[in-house]
Amino acid sequence: MNEMICQGCGAPIQTTDPNQIGYTPKTSLDKEVVLCQRCFRLKHYNDIQDVSATDDDFLKMVSEISNKQGIVVHLIDIFDVEGSLLKNLSRIVGDKPIILAGNKMDLLPKSTNKRKLTQWLRSKAKDIGLTVEDVFLISSMKGYGLNDLTEAIEYYRGGRDVYIVGTTNVGKSTFINRLIHQTTGEDHVITTSYFPGTTLGFIEIPLDAQSSLIDTPGIVNHEQIAHYISDSDLKVITPKKEIKPRVFQLNSGQSLFFGGLARLDFIKGERQSFVCYFANSLSIHRTKLENADNLYAEHKGALLSPPDPESLENFPELKQSTHKINKGKTDIVFPGLGWVSLPHGDATMAAYSPKGVHVSLRKSFF
Ligand code: GDP
Repeated sequence: MNEMICQGCGAPIQTTDPNQIGYTPKTSLDKEVVLCQRCFRLKHYNDIQDVSATDDDFLKMVSEISNKQGIVVHLIDIFDVEGSLLKNLSRIVGDKPIILAGNKMDLLPKSTNKRKLTQWLRSKAKDIGLTVEDVFLISSMKGYGLNDLTEAIEYYRGGRDVYIVGTTNVGKSTFINRLIHQTTGEDHVITTSYFPGTTLGFIEIPLDAQSSLIDTPGIVNHEQIAHYISDSDLKVITPKKEIKPRVFQLNSGQSLFFGGLARLDFIKGERQSFVCYFANSLSIHRTKLENADNLYAEHKGALLSPPDPESLENFPELKQSTHKINKGKTDIVFPGLGWVSLPHGDATMAAYSPKGVHVSLRKSFF
C-alpha cells in the first residue's frame, strides 16, 4: 500500500497515536481528501492542535528551519522557564533573529517586577548561548502584551516568515489561535501547505502574499516534571489563575512538602519567612525535619499527593541538593512546580526534587 500523506501538511497519515503527527481516526481514511486531525480542525474550526515531536523528529524539523529565511519566536512558559527554554535553539535554527516571549504572565503575582524579570530572562538566554533580539512578557490566554509582541514581529521579520518554536504545553496553540483570530477574524478560511521534502506537519498561516506564520510541533523536554506525572496530577500542579503566595514562618529543623513531588528542608539559619509560589491547588505540608523521611515513606501518594497512585508507578525517586544562600532575596526554583522566595536570603537548605528535574536558585524578582 502506498503511504498516505495528509493533504494539508504533508505528514504521513497514521491512526494509532492521537498525540503524534499525522493522526487521523480510521473512519476518515476513505474520504476523498484525507487530512490529519490537526489540519481538519484547523480547516473547519480555525483551531490549532498541538502535536509533539520526538527528539529525532525535532532535529529533522529544525534543520529545515535553518535553511530558510525568517525569524523565530521562541515561546516559553514563564512559570517553568527552566523546563521550556530550549538550550540548543540557536545552534539548531541557524543564524536568525530570535524573539523570546514569556507566556502565562497572568499566573504571576501582580507584585512581579517585570523589568527585573525581563532582565533575568535575557541573562538566562545568554547563559545558554542564546542571543535574543528582544524579550516580551505575554499572556496568550488573556491577551496581555500581544500587541507589543506582534509589532516587534512585524519589525524584525521585514516581510519574511515567522517560525513559532517551543516545548509542549507552553501555550503555543493558544498563542497562535489568538493571533489567527486577531489578524484574520474567525470566519476567514485558513489554508495550509507544507515544506516540500519534509515528512513533518508544519502548519503555515499566511501573513501576506509572500510570507507565513509557521507552527512547529511542540518539542518534548524530558526534564519537565509534566512527563513524570498523570494527567490528573498535572491539573493539580498547573496554576489556573494568579498564584497567591503562601507564607510559612519556619525555624531551622523544619521541612515543607509540596504535595509529595518536592521537599525543602531548612537546615540552618534564623527563623524567617518562606514565601511559596505554587498552584493554589497544590497542598503544602509543614513538618519537623526529623520526621520528614518517615512522613514521606508512609504518606506519599495519599496525604502527600500528587503523585497519585497512577503517577507513583513511574515516579522517579526524590534527589537531594544542598543550597547555601547569603546574597539577599533569593528564589529556590522547583522547575514546573513553583518556587520558594526567601526575603532575608540567608539560610542553608536541602531541596528534594524528582531525579532529572533540577532545583536552581535565582535572584528574586518579586
Ligand atoms: P501547547 O502545547 O504549547 O500548544 O500549549 P496549549 O496552547 O495547549 O496550552 C497548554 C496549557 O496552558 C493549556 O491548559 C492552556 O489553557 C494553558 N495556557 C496557554 N496560554 C496560557 C496563558 O497565557 N495563561 C495561562 N494561565 N494558561 C495558558
